[in-house]
Amino acid sequence: MIEKELSERINVEVDKLFDDQIRFTQKLTRFPSLRGQEHTAQDFLFDELTKRNYALDRWTVNVEDIKDHPGFSPVKVDYSNAINIVATHRPKTEIGRSLILNGHIDVVPEGPYEMWSRNPFDPAIEGDWMYGRGGADMKAGIVANIFAMDAIRNLGYQPAARVHIQSVVEEECTGNGALACLVRGYNAEAAIIPEPVDDKLVRGNVGVLWFKVSVKGLPVHVREAGSGQNAIEACFPIIKALRKLEEQWNAEKTNFKYYNDTEHPINFNVGNCNIWGLQYHPEITYNKMINLIIFRKKRLLEKGAFKDENEIDNHIKHIETENNKLDKVSRMRELENWLNYLNLE
Ligand SMILES: [Zn+2]
Repeated sequence: MIEKELSERINVEVDKLFDDQIRFTQKLTRFPSLRGQEHTAQDFLFDELTKRNYALDRWTVNVEDIKDHPGFSPVKVDYSNAINIVATHRPKTEIGRSLILNGHIDVVPEGPYEMWSRNPFDPAIEGDWMYGRGGADMKAGIVANIFAMDAIRNLGYQPAARVHIQSVVEEECTGNGALACLVRGYNAEAAIIPEPVDDKLVRGNVGVLWFKVSVKGLPVHVREAGSGQNAIEACFPIIKALRKLEEQWNAEKTNFKYYNDTEHPINFNVGNCNIWGLQYHPEITYNKMINLIIFRKKRLLEKGAFKDENEIDNHIKHIETENNKLDKVSRMRELENWLNYLNLE
């Protein structure tokens, strides 16, 4: 246990460095380290940590290395810029207990620009607040880790055990960045992650579970809507059932001691909805639909139905994939609908 007098001296030193710490946080927030674009911020940290004489490790997260770990989340983006950094302090003789100080460098997207009153990546300080995307979550935390160690060093002390300062990618979507550190062999007796959560010590945390539900309808002509199946309406009972499951899981919170005081620890969110083929006309096959889009390209762009050529091409590609996916049963049904519509009897 650290003596009271020493801990007070460390606190005073932390306060002394605070202006520098703010400037550093501001600088780090200027790097737009959105997912897949974290590398420039990581370069900056790499240089700063090298200046402080840590042993630096920098590597690109390799999916092959982590894919068999139970903590792995499926990857849908390119990882060529997913670079992790670990700065290690190693005392001559290790007598204390080791520590990981972890933080994530990726930030969530800025959202609609018109809702910002300033450039999200040009952080401004007003009163006691700094405004900028990712400042709180969690560049301030990464910088706090670095400056806590700086304060100890400035006083002429050093931790008597290994300390790993980690700046990881891929927290906002998966957690694969921190996992890559673990798989690479970074381990310690304790880990502190200064996420901005109510300014208190949190010992348990729920994760995120992303999942996709696909609902296939049964396309018929609108005048026979009753004989078909509407895919959107078919989602309602599914959403309702998931809400029920959410309540069941929340009711079980008493079995987990760290969630007892949290009102609603598990929250279900219906996210993106992609709807395909709902302008369905039974007489139009997917291939015909694609030809029509190509034929009407100019008009569709003029009318603003599509943003640009690129969007049209993506739309066509999507129809093509959906077309390939359709199984035999739905194909037969499609044909049946078509024949019915033509009334060839
Ligand atoms: Zn965070």
